[in-house]
Amino acid sequence: MRILGLILVTLVFAGCAPGGDTGDTRQSFDIVLEGGDVYSGVDVAPVVSDVGIVGDRIVALGDLGDSDAGTRLDVTGLAVMPGFIDIHSHAVRSEPGDGIFRWPDAENQIRQGVTTVIGGPDGGSPLPISETLAAIEKSTASVNFGTFVGHGSIRGLIIGDDDRPPTEDELQSMRDEVRKAMQQGAFGLSSGLIYAPGRFATTEEVIELAKVAAEYDGIYISHMREEGLDVLKSVAETIRIGEEGGLPTQLTHHKIVGAPMWGKSTETLRLVDEALARGVDVSIDQYPYTASSTSLTILFPGWSLDGGRESLLARMADPEQRLRMRQEIVYRIEVDRGGNDPANVVLSNCPHDNTINGRNLSELLRQQEREVNNDNAAELLMELVAAGNCSAVFHAINEDDMINIMRHRVTMPASDGGIEGPSERVPHPRNYGTFARVLGRYVRELGVLPLHAAVHKMTMLPADRIGLRDRGRIAEGAIADIAVIDPATVIDTATFENPHQYAKGAHHVFVSGEAVLLNGEMTGARPGKILRSR
Ligand SMILES: [Zn+2]
Repeated sequence: MRILGLILVTLVFAGCAPGGDTGDTRQSFDIVLEGGDVYSGVDVAPVVSDVGIVGDRIVALGDLGDSDAGTRLDVTGLAVMPGFIDIHSHAVRSEPGDGIFRWPDAENQIRQGVTTVIGGPDGGSPLPISETLAAIEKSTASVNFGTFVGHGSIRGLIIGDDDRPPTEDELQSMRDEVRKAMQQGAFGLSSGLIYAPGRFATTEEVIELAKVAAEYDGIYISHMREEGLDVLKSVAETIRIGEEGGLPTQLTHHKIVGAPMWGKSTETLRLVDEALARGVDVSIDQYPYTASSTSLTILFPGWSLDGGRESLLARMADPEQRLRMRQEIVYRIEVDRGGNDPANVVLSNCPHDNTINGRNLSELLRQQEREVNNDNAAELLMELVAAGNCSAVFHAINEDDMINIMRHRVTMPASDGGIEGPSERVPHPRNYGTFARVLGRYVRELGVLPLHAAVHKMTMLPADRIGLRDRGRIAEGAIADIAVIDPATVIDTATFENPHQYAKGAHHVFVSGEAVLLNGEMTGARPGKILRSR
């Protein structure tokens, strides 16, 4: 049966295959990957097999030695895997022309084997999403791109930056925006309930919008309201939104922030297991690092952000409110993302002063001849935000929790990074290393997962999550998004101090059957497709 199948495939594709000879039944392929260990994307051990590609599809598996091939690559001893899917990507940044537009070759992703990135996370997406999708399609990129629609962006559009519930009309307008985005191809609704203005929403408001995404088979994916002291409540809220919204729900970049809560991953995962047991479709994504990265205002109390930046600056100018803010920021430095030491907060991108990128708050205080303590660090944070704000890296996660979460069967790696290249920024190394680090450090060096489990988590699991039925798998008929990587050498090399370092170990990467990385060299091809949910 297999042989017959191959012959039929050959006949169908013979017309577009190089050297195709319709006069006999010898198979013809554009590309044959020969003798690799093929990981199908299913969580099972690999099989040694050739992979035959015609056009943008995988058309044959098995022994293809007796065939014609435009390109034949010996990949013996290498892992042939579906291209990885990054389901939480900041590939589109708020600064126009940045991210995927600035580095369309996406070398930081391709060199890890990533072939698809999904944007619009954390409640933030450009609106309308159709314009961004069209812009990327026009400028072209090496990787495939799809997006979620952001609850925070919709709330900002309809209500602004104010801390108040929507009127009935406004709620209807927000529903309409979700509907529009879903019809334009969004894969679901993202939220960032820790950020303004998303944080001003009640759980019920998010459920109402999630119901609209559910009508279009979308998922809900959330940067939760709290990841520190209140993380358990937040996990429960995320589960409830999936349960009452009637759609799959995902805890994005799940982590336990702040020493007082370390070890609590056991409890958050128990909540997930209980929800799964009663039929709620819950999943998790995660980046494999013990530091997070986001805006400095994550250390600010919610009330200080009500009304947006001008209101925040006005509150800072009022001595009484400034004192209250400082006290609450100090508290967050102590128990939450500050890791109880100003040295744990490292500036990554200060557009108003690039010279301080890479410095931590302790270093800056010393440089300014101020005593290093949490009070002064809080003052410095307010000064930095007033001067233009920065993003920063926050070291406040423990590796045991991280590994515990990584092992869970519904957890998939995702970068929470984006498309980066060498620049004045000192970004989180997750941009360059997430997938390679899972394969190198956590699979090979620490044995946390078998390789086939990790591959499943990077490919079929996220593909199925958002309904990509012909990607994330090596199978006859699937799109030829393929990563060929050496499991013995794959490793991340980006560090917190020196993040602009590409991962090692990828030999070839194909997107829709076109080589983007060949024999370790970027080809310059940009075959990435725009992916829409419908
Ligand atoms: Zn986030």
